[in-house]
Amino acid sequence: MEDPKPGCLCRSPGISAYCDGKENTPMKLVYLDNAATTPCCPQALAAVNKALDGPCGNPSSHYSVGYEAKQLVDTGRAQVAKALNADPGEIFFTGCGSEADNWAVKGTAFKLAAQGKKHLITSAFEHHAILHSMAMLERIGFEVSYIKPDSEGYIHPEDVEAAIRPDTALISIMMANNEIGTIQPIKELAAVAHAHKIWFHTDAVQAVGAIPVDVKELGVDMLSLSGHKFNAPKGIGALYIRKGISPWNFLDGGGQESRRRAGTENVAGIAAIGAALEAATQNLPARMEHEQKLRDYVIDRVLKNIPQARLNGGRDKRLPGNANISFPGLEGETILLDLDMHGICASTGSACNSDSLDPSHVLLSIGLPEEIGHGSMRFTFGPQNTMQEAEYLCDTLEEIIPRRRAMSCMWLQSEGKARVFSLKGEKQ
Ligand code: PLP
Repeated sequence: MEDPKPGCLCRSPGISAYCDGKENTPMKLVYLDNAATTPCCPQALAAVNKALDGPCGNPSSHYSVGYEAKQLVDTGRAQVAKALNADPGEIFFTGCGSEADNWAVKGTAFKLAAQGKKHLITSAFEHHAILHSMAMLERIGFEVSYIKPDSEGYIHPEDVEAAIRPDTALISIMMANNEIGTIQPIKELAAVAHAHKIWFHTDAVQAVGAIPVDVKELGVDMLSLSGHKFNAPKGIGALYIRKGISPWNFLDGGGQESRRRAGTENVAGIAAIGAALEAATQNLPARMEHEQKLRDYVIDRVLKNIPQARLNGGRDKRLPGNANISFPGLEGETILLDLDMHGICASTGSACNSDSLDPSHVLLSIGLPEEIGHGSMRFTFGPQNTMQEAEYLCDTLEEIIPRRRAMSCMWLQSEGKARVFSLKGEKQ
């Protein structure tokens, strides 16, 4: 495939793609939503093919193809463990990152409730896999403290410590936020928890594969990850559980995963998650540098060239591939549709929120006013993205934002160029 020419909008009707200049030639999409999910890397694809091609036994079966399947599972587990500096016996495969989060939160709450511990601490801007698990526990009598991040999107250990009670069972704070990409001081937070003999879990779904993650260095008790965020297929995740602790099982049944997570293993997924994480961590410094270059190019150019554009979340401790930018005066959905017309995939918030028009709870938690939260976009870069694509994004934003603002009552009113009106027809 030839390199697409940025800015060339010669497209086949109805096809969201940008073109190489040849009339009606649909070209590749510019995929800038790598925090939502990522394409499979060649190593993961090869692992899936190897696992699914052939007799493909059950890893629990005691004959040769069963042993072969078990070997694939063992290899995947060893690869994930090595990437995290864990012991293979501390890695438990799950169906997704959400399951790992549910297991850590509910499994701990149920286990420690027997000791009278019915309080949990988390942050106000966690992924819904954590927030909704906490809400479920509240409905059955647990109490939860939600720590607010500061305006840059960081949780302060002293705020977490101040919320600790004698009956606190668990502290769960995410390693990197999925919308604004801010990286939390996990080592310090785990130390606070342990000073009070409390278990510490981190949702590292956005961090694993994107930045170095060493469970021993961080000192965490449990850590969630999800394969589709680092170029493995969807439908495979894992929970690291430090040797010596045992939250209640979340899935009961057969004896898989050392009797702690029932269900016949997703052999192809496990083989792929191991291969993908090994590939991601082997190339991590180069991958981080590449993504950060694209991110910084987009942030600098957009903030310079688009009036009142605003970066959400601090810039220093931030995922290398994350740029979350507000464009006041517009709705994110309008920008999203315009970008799609130009062949660019991005997000107005986290993927699971993209069918809701409510402002993102993450942006509200850092104090962004609702009307600005509505006009926020997340661009997330991966190893496959190019500088040419980053330039194309900026060219496109510089074209669509002023054009849409010129039609936006919200923007024109804020500029004093349109009278304020009421949808009910009253005079303002
Ligand atoms: N936690 C975070 C921080 C996430 O970003 C996501 C997915 O976007 C999840 C958990 C859920 O992961 P999964 O999609 O594998 O269930």
